[in-house]
Amino acid sequence: MAEQRKHPTYLWWNGERLRWHDATVHVTELGWSTVGAVFEGIRAYAGADGELYVFRLREHLERLERSMRLVRLRLDYGLDELTEVILDLLRANEIHEDTYIRPLAFAADTSGKRFAQIGNDASLLVNTSPLATHLGTGLTQTAKVSSWRRISEDVMPPRIKNLSNYRNGQLASSEARLDGYDTAFLLNAQGTVAEGPGACVMMVANGMLVTPSVTCSILESITRDALIVLAREVLGIPVVERQVDRTELYVADEIFTCGTAAEITPVISVDKYTVGDGGIGPVTRDLERAFLDVLRGTEERFAAWRTPVWAAVPAGVR
Ligand code: PMP
Repeated sequence: MAEQRKHPTYLWWNGERLRWHDATVHVTELGWSTVGAVFEGIRAYAGADGELYVFRLREHLERLERSMRLVRLRLDYGLDELTEVILDLLRANEIHEDTYIRPLAFAADTSGKRFAQIGNDASLLVNTSPLATHLGTGLTQTAKVSSWRRISEDVMPPRIKNLSNYRNGQLASSEARLDGYDTAFLLNAQGTVAEGPGACVMMVANGMLVTPSVTCSILESITRDALIVLAREVLGIPVVERQVDRTELYVADEIFTCGTAAEITPVISVDKYTVGDGGIGPVTRDLERAFLDVLRGTEERFAAWRTPVWAAVPAGVR
């Protein structure tokens, strides 16, 4: 029983739903096989009505498809098919609570190939793990501007979720933690603000929400996109996507990071400059509330962003 709690019963691996312990690869596959790997991070949220809602599933699958195209991996499944794979997996694992879903694609049979990853067959894994929301819990972070620069378009493709890109964020994150901060902001090759390790950056200045544009060496974040829409349509505040200078962070009224894992995480200081009054700012709070309403299904306007997991299953067998 204790063993069961540590991982879900099933995962999905190359076309089949398998028991967790039956999905294995040989140890010699470690290493080069995942250098070109791409992945997705998706969340499902327990709805206020008892349903489980996957947030922006289609957009995540579309980004997976783009990521695979960019690293020249072949996707052998349609997006409708992958949607069903994920919904089926969540149901098979009897999931009703907040959950993280991770599809991972990498080149199959690369042993000895190292650099020749062109149009390879892809191995595709989907696994799920419980991940409670931290929205509304009062979590805040301190940040430092990293001495590491964000990877740039002329070195690696920042806009996709290539696993190798994440070494960049790991270096920045571990530097920040060793220096006593919770997280880091990376500048891009041009010296303007890019993003955090695994999250985008937004700030409030002069009554506007300001965020680095998608050509500033950031991942094309789905949360960022959603929050831009919610800020405009629910909060009614202007949003500007542009280059952001480092020193703008030092004098911003509010700052937060955003992403599937980060959700909205308020940042209360950057390089020891206190942001606003050092607490969670009013725009951040309003946006958190609006976002949670969408995720939990109490805001009807953005129902298209939610995929219900259990709706198709008769109530008696859920
Ligand atoms: N930047 C990076 C580097 C990330 O890994 C993530 C998390 N996927 C984000 C930004 C936020 O993207 P999303 O909102 O799509 O999760």
